[in-house]
Amino acid sequence: MFLTMSPQTTAPSKNRSHALMLATFLLGLLSTGDAGAAPVRAAFGPISDEIWRNMQGKSWRAELPCPSRNKLSLLRIPYLDFQGHTQIGAMIVAKSVAANVAAAFQEIYESKRFRIYRMALIDEYGGDDDKSMEANNTSAFNCRTTDRGALSRHALGLAVDINPVQNPYREGNVASPPAGSAFDQPYKRRSDITGVIVNGDVVTKAFARQGWFWGGNWKRAVDYQHFSSDGH
Ligand SMILES: [Zn+2]
Repeated sequence: MFLTMSPQTTAPSKNRSHALMLATFLLGLLSTGDAGAAPVRAAFGPISDEIWRNMQGKSWRAELPCPSRNKLSLLRIPYLDFQGHTQIGAMIVAKSVAANVAAAFQEIYESKRFRIYRMALIDEYGGDDDKSMEANNTSAFNCRTTDRGALSRHALGLAVDINPVQNPYREGNVASPPAGSAFDQPYKRRSDITGVIVNGDVVTKAFARQGWFWGGNWKRAVDYQHFSSDGH
């Protein structure tokens, strides 16, 4: 419930104490009104025991050289869903980039100009990237290999995928996820379509401000959903 609770929901004491342990990431104005409402600010901190246990064999795989638990951070990220309602999503990234990712999503949220369909840990999909993409889930850390057998930037917690259906990966004429074929060519992509990322919009600018790169600019295989710290 920590993953999906709305800011209006009164957090159970267990979640509240966990939230207090998180290092709150402040950016822009302090919104201290609304007594009792959960803060609508991106925050990050250590991965709880419960979430860590649930990651095993899903997003964290013992057979791969995955980052250790203390090199990863759990983020709590406000976003506007496709109905325009504020939701709090969960995401795991490398601790080294947690502040950057939190700042980018905070900027996107505060702009009120971009909507995110869903943001849940990929463990809800068994660590299966295809299932997460089909569910149009925005996610980051997943200790997996690429089709070529190398560790993905997602495996290092250094990449984020946003709205995979509206922002598919395209290689040749194949879109992933399949529903993304409606958005897999430049002429099908317009900034007025909910969830679509285009060059120069708030999403690309927010990540560029953090020094991150967009897969939508790749030439050979284009990855519209993908942002990473090193362009891979
Ligand atoms: Zn990606």
